[in-house]
Amino acid sequence: MKLLVVLSLLAACAFARKTFHGDQVLRIHPKTQEQIQFLQSWEQSNELDFWKAIRSIGVAVDVRVPANHLASFKLELTRCGLVYEIFVDDVQTLIDAQRVDRPAAKDLASFDYNVYHTFDEIQQWIDDMALEHTNLATKSFVGTSYEGRGFGALTISARTGNPQFVINCGIHAREWITPATCMYSAKMLVDGYGSDSLITQLLDQVDFVFIPSSNPDGYAYTWSNDRMWRKTRSRGNGVCVGVDPNRNWAVGFGGSGASSSPCSETYHGPAAFSEPCTAAQRDFVEALPNVKMYIDVHAYSQLWMYSFGYTTSRPANYNTLDGIARDSAQAIFNTHGKFYEPGQISTTIYVASGVTTDYFYNTVTQCSFTSELRDTGRYGFLLPENQIQPTAEESFAAFKVMAQAIIDGQCEA
Ligand SMILES: [Zn+2]
Repeated sequence: MKLLVVLSLLAACAFARKTFHGDQVLRIHPKTQEQIQFLQSWEQSNELDFWKAIRSIGVAVDVRVPANHLASFKLELTRCGLVYEIFVDDVQTLIDAQRVDRPAAKDLASFDYNVYHTFDEIQQWIDDMALEHTNLATKSFVGTSYEGRGFGALTISARTGNPQFVINCGIHAREWITPATCMYSAKMLVDGYGSDSLITQLLDQVDFVFIPSSNPDGYAYTWSNDRMWRKTRSRGNGVCVGVDPNRNWAVGFGGSGASSSPCSETYHGPAAFSEPCTAAQRDFVEALPNVKMYIDVHAYSQLWMYSFGYTTSRPANYNTLDGIARDSAQAIFNTHGKFYEPGQISTTIYVASGVTTDYFYNTVTQCSFTSELRDTGRYGFLLPENQIQPTAEESFAAFKVMAQAIIDGQCEA
């Protein structure tokens, strides 16, 4: 009997969903080097959750502060003369608004693109798209995650022999808008082929390869246990779980903007490609015959960026990449009036090493991008479902610009 009680308690612990009642997201405005150092010491403590990393004087930082630290942390901010605003008053309220219980879609016809979906639903959607649209859509197996989840890609292709545009979503688990945007974009291609002249013309010349959920364990964990989880779920030897899969790639591995501490949100892992999901993605993309464009999709901050992340040196084709990013940002603005800042990763946000965009720049195509979707911080990672459609529409406008750049020969080595 005792054993049963212990076992059921253990099971309850294992499946307990973390809650965020009373947690707030503060936007903090550092104005001096001392204030930056104060925030850095908090970042290194790993006790707060930095939604928007520390950059420099004058650039705001977003931090989720657990309810039990809130009073003392605000007091310290005031003592340091740091100005802050409360951006999210109660994190749990926003999470609850995103998690309305609903039955899973029975088939593609009842699939709702305007809600967030679980990992299993996303994989089922890949199967259903390939079955429903045999003329255009093909499913590929990418690989298996640390916890044994198989994950796939969906290729939308109208003709054999076309170059590929790879769109990777969900590498950071809590950025739920990105898998939703990948799926919405694939749907718009399928719906538009043969009826929309631009989509038809693009698809006649470019294949779109979507990897909608490339961090399977982390994403599943954001649904089952911790909505704020970012990393993978691999267990090293230490006390902390997971590796930042976007610091785990073999370009500048272990350099600036990545942490060697297993408890950090930007932990690069024990070695490049230590994570089965990043190794699988590498092998899958490198095996594609003719990749000309790559983008790794993130949230949030509204940025459209390109290599390099690991160094502030400019890539050889800087002018080409900058032109494509500017045209993409313009197309986004023309869609719903949202401003996304174009620029090189390292100089637009911060130096980040071991990122997927730089890896594929070096190995696959020099047209290698990354984006940060909506918003600019009002909801952050907890973007309401009614913003899925406009976010996907403006992103899709940029994807069309990028596909056109391939056709125009801008991505020839
Ligand atoms: Zn991210």
